[in-house]
Amino acid sequence: MSDLQELYQSVILDHNRKPRNFGPLDEASGTAEGKNPLCGDQVEVAVKLDGDVLSAVKFTGSGCAISKASASLMTTAVTGKSRAEVEALFDKFHALVTGRAAEADITKEALGQLIVFSSVSRFPIRVKCASLAWHTLRAALEDGGADAPVSTE
Ligand code: ZN
Repeated sequence: MSDLQELYQSVILDHNRKPRNFGPLDEASGTAEGKNPLCGDQVEVAVKLDGDVLSAVKFTGSGCAISKASASLMTTAVTGKSRAEVEALFDKFHALVTGRAAEADITKEALGQLIVFSSVSRFPIRVKCASLAWHTLRAALEDGGADAPVSTE
């Protein structure tokens, strides 16, 4: 493992141990539940919108280290961003973990801390763990009281 991969690994482990923005969110504008049956990950994402800006995001749930760290890092990455910015970031993140991102786009400038998930693309089974929180966030932003949980299957 390279030094860089080791550093990324330690960020993931840190967010798994001490997830940021973990817990219920008061006065949420939208919530959604997500499940990844393949791994057993479960997440609930709650958002608060201030006009078009995501002013707060919190999550609860349980799952593997990747799913939890991804939810945690996602909340720190999207807080304060507009819906369009969140969508754009999700596209970049999804391209990264599915291995479709161009080498030139895999930079700290483009991805911020999300770059720590760059090795996930080499483990296809982990892609769903890493993207579960993001799919759930998208559902929470569109929440009109959707009844069915988001599923990666
Ligand atoms: Zn998982």
